[in-house]
Amino acid sequence: MIAKKMVKYVEGSSVTRAMFGEGKKMAKEFGPENVYDFSLGNPSVEPPKAVAEQMKAVLDEKKPNFVHGYMNNAGHEEVRHAIADSLNRKFGTSFSEKNIIMTVGAAGGLNVILKTLLDPGDEVIAFAPYFSEYNNYVGNFDGVMVPISANIPSFQPNLDEFREKITERTKAVIVNTPNNPTGVVYSEETIKELSRILEEKQKEIGHAVYLIADEPYRELAYDGVEVPYLTKYFSNTIVGYSYSKSLSLPGERIGYLVVPDEADDFENILDAATVATRILGFVNAPSLQQLTVARCLEEKTDISAYDQNRKLLYDKLTELGFECAKPEGAFYLWVKAKEEDDKAFVAKAKEFHLLLVPGSAFMCAGYVRIAYCVSPEMIKRSFGAFEKLAETYKNGN
Ligand code: PLP
Repeated sequence: MIAKKMVKYVEGSSVTRAMFGEGKKMAKEFGPENVYDFSLGNPSVEPPKAVAEQMKAVLDEKKPNFVHGYMNNAGHEEVRHAIADSLNRKFGTSFSEKNIIMTVGAAGGLNVILKTLLDPGDEVIAFAPYFSEYNNYVGNFDGVMVPISANIPSFQPNLDEFREKITERTKAVIVNTPNNPTGVVYSEETIKELSRILEEKQKEIGHAVYLIADEPYRELAYDGVEVPYLTKYFSNTIVGYSYSKSLSLPGERIGYLVVPDEADDFENILDAATVATRILGFVNAPSLQQLTVARCLEEKTDISAYDQNRKLLYDKLTELGFECAKPEGAFYLWVKAKEEDDKAFVAKAKEFHLLLVPGSAFMCAGYVRIAYCVSPEMIKRSFGAFEKLAETYKNGN
């Protein structure tokens, strides 16, 4: 018999992944060219050439007991050093290798930092709509998720409600910008105000509240929009970065955490996060991937393909009368459902072979997410289906 806690997780197993499975089934039935699967955020752009070249170069070096061996649980020192240097160059920060812990993607990093910070019953705030795995990650350590309702139509964080929901039990706040599922980038003004509120509330409640910046989409920002680097605004910020999207390496499971010297209790946090990396069973992030990304720090995937998709879809859907959040980053378009029940809207879209994810899977009913990390050809082929979907609602069906 499986654990009671797992029964709940299995039942609530990710809607997005269920939809992806459904897409595969439909492709077999109707032919892959007749199914428009916008369900999963799997990068469609190949990693930069340098990634494979550097991976081979690392293997060719044949340093004994190095590439394939155990190491410090925080990761290779030279890799952490290179990452710290690169961040300092980009953001004018002053990190060193001690501030960096290599992780098994953003998901691994979030679990490590939540294990490090949470006692049972501690509260973690997140702004709806948000990546639903946060609920599971916080649940892993018996924390309590406190969602803040969506701020419609800007989808910037709702800071009035935020202020009210911070209590003595609040231990952390997770922000994700550029955002999954909305594609919105939180403005500098928002970040400054959010930081001011946190400073004020920390004084009031008498302990640190950590801002966890979940940043797998940092490099995916369009039209020259700036994505503020949060450690510069609030000292108790911990950054979780991932190469899953920035280098199109989601299956390789590689990322890192940054814990700045300025963060309250930072030495204990670093020690505890290193131990958490070990005892969660990661032991360390994949060695070959660490050594590879350290040699590709200036590389980026070609985001022009996503940008082209973003424009194609946004223009077409707004022309058809769909209301979309302004897409500035990531590879998601967030669209108001044409009926109150987003799941019914998703079911209707499926009749036209359009696979979308309901907003309720991101704690924000009434909307749907369209992942446009797909081929532009598929987007163009899908236009007829979107036209039919829009037409259905015009006729009041
Ligand atoms: N956080 C957000 C907001 C995501 O969208 C994802 C993946 O899609 C993750 C974390 C997990 O990323 P990783 O593959 O690096 O674990």
